[in-house]
Amino acid sequence: MAKSEKLKEIRDEIWNLKESPLYEERINNNAYPVIGEGSHDAEIMFIGEAPGKNEAATGKPFCGRSGKILDELLKHIKLDRKDVYVTNIVKDRPTNNRDPKSDEIELYAKFLDRQIEIIKPKIIVTLGRFSMEYIMKRYGLEEQFDTISKIHGQKFETKFNYGQVFVLPLYHPAVAVYNNNMIADLKKDFEGVDFLLKEINSPSSMF
Ligand code: URA
Repeated sequence: MAKSEKLKEIRDEIWNLKESPLYEERINNNAYPVIGEGSHDAEIMFIGEAPGKNEAATGKPFCGRSGKILDELLKHIKLDRKDVYVTNIVKDRPTNNRDPKSDEIELYAKFLDRQIEIIKPKIIVTLGRFSMEYIMKRYGLEEQFDTISKIHGQKFETKFNYGQVFVLPLYHPAVAVYNNNMIADLKKDFEGVDFLLKEINSPSSMF
């Protein structure tokens, strides 16, 4: 089955995910689940936390204030959003943007795992502590797991079913919404994404 067909299956399952504690609120608010967007052959996948108000109103990831910051960061390293894949760990908006609960993460992460297996990114950039914790613990980096303030911007190498992957935990772009000083830190960390991308595409790369 083609990648797009498999991703459509995931979309349909999430659309009908009545067992989710967030489903009823989605329907009551005429909102959308946010599945993910971008290239199905992306070398880089960005994984955020959960949709906010703008995202749930449109079905598109990172299209509000955090999204503007993400766009600025991508522009900083001359990456086009259409060439990467952007998604979240939780696909429906938690009430009033509260933190996602562990049962919600557990439920939706199964879809994220499948998206990763289909798209097969070589670099996974986690945005914020929830996706960082899930990805690191799920994919063999439990021992290196620490607080985001200690490990943001560091690269970790691990093995997925389809091959080697670099995991790069970064701060969530929302940290710069209210604290403009953070944009400098985020830009520096994004330069690490650019560096990694060049590394995996160098002629001597094992990827
Ligand atoms: N914050 C996220 O983590 N994801 C989005 O899609 C928007 C805001």
